[in-house]
Amino acid sequence: MKPFNYMRATNLHEAIGLLAHHTPNVCLLAGGTDLLIEWRRPSACTPENVIDISALTEMKGIESGNGRIVLKPLTTHAQILKSQAIIESAPLLSVAATVIGSPQIRNRGTVGGNIMNAAACADTVPPLIALNAEVVLQSESERRTLPLHELFLKPYETVARPDEILCEIRFEKLPVKARSSFIKLGRRNALSISRLSVAAVVARDEAGVITNARIVPGATFPRWRRVVEAEKLLVGEKASAELFRAAGDTVSELMIAETGHRWSTEYKEPVIAVLVQRALEQCCR
Ligand SMILES: Cc1cc2nc3c(=O)[nH]c(=O)nc-3n(C[C@H](O)[C@H](O)[C@H](O)COP(=O)(O)OP(=O)(O)OC[C@H]3O[C@@H](n4cnc5c(N)ncnc54)[C@H](O)[C@@H]3O)c2cc1C
Repeated sequence: MKPFNYMRATNLHEAIGLLAHHTPNVCLLAGGTDLLIEWRRPSACTPENVIDISALTEMKGIESGNGRIVLKPLTTHAQILKSQAIIESAPLLSVAATVIGSPQIRNRGTVGGNIMNAAACADTVPPLIALNAEVVLQSESERRTLPLHELFLKPYETVARPDEILCEIRFEKLPVKARSSFIKLGRRNALSISRLSVAAVVARDEAGVITNARIVPGATFPRWRRVVEAEKLLVGEKASAELFRAAGDTVSELMIAETGHRWSTEYKEPVIAVLVQRALEQCCR
């Protein structure tokens, strides 16, 4: 690993000041589970300055109240999966946290790091987009809020400037009647990176008619997004196998339209359709 200038911030104000001073040759270090692996690669582009934010207590924890959840970015996956507030009001995020890496990775890796690393396979991102999450970015000069899906430009690239720190992730709790699911498909059952994933939310009225649907596939499109084209098919209809199959096929067709045919298309084309179908079935079971 190439040497770098290591600084340990003791509070958010100090971290933001250090970022401003050293930008653009600077990088934030949270749990380090993405960064340390990257920096150990012989061809890695290691930053000159590293600010360790792992001691910032004001950046840790989950706040629940007034119908919303505020997730601080240094909250670990282990804390998310154990949180009663998340289990009750955003169960799909809890499920996603459960299937990330191993116990060691879940104890160390943070939700903020998972988002800001912006890997196409990041498991917390599809559920958070399905929850219509917003993120708050803070720098010395500005504090801005944007929908999570607008944060991403392409895999491993976000719109965040080098002097900005992610300081909050927030979303409305799911309505009591809404059901959600997250399905991850990896090459093996444990300690596996997502080949494909799907987060889904479905709400139905007393008569069983779908009133709200959200579908967010992971590792599927060049940029994460809700697939409104498939969601529209569902709203106003009653749950059925044919309906869910049509939604899955729509996602699959759009994936090919946006990514083109690749070596993996033969596999991904049928599989993403089935995963969407299964995620919707789980919501309506
Ligand atoms: C063995 C192994 C298995 C894994 N399995 C999975 C898996 O199943 N699913 C999955 O999604 N991921 C997996 N990961 C990836 C990784 O653990 C997660 O992405 C984790 O959440 C990263 O968080 P971190 O705190 O370690 O981030 P770090 O490595 O510290 O940082 C990652 C990036 O985020 C930036 N960053 C961190 N915090 C902030 C902030 N507050 N503001 C601005 N930028 C910030 C850093 O500068 C860096 O660019 C795995 C990793 C390993 C090593």
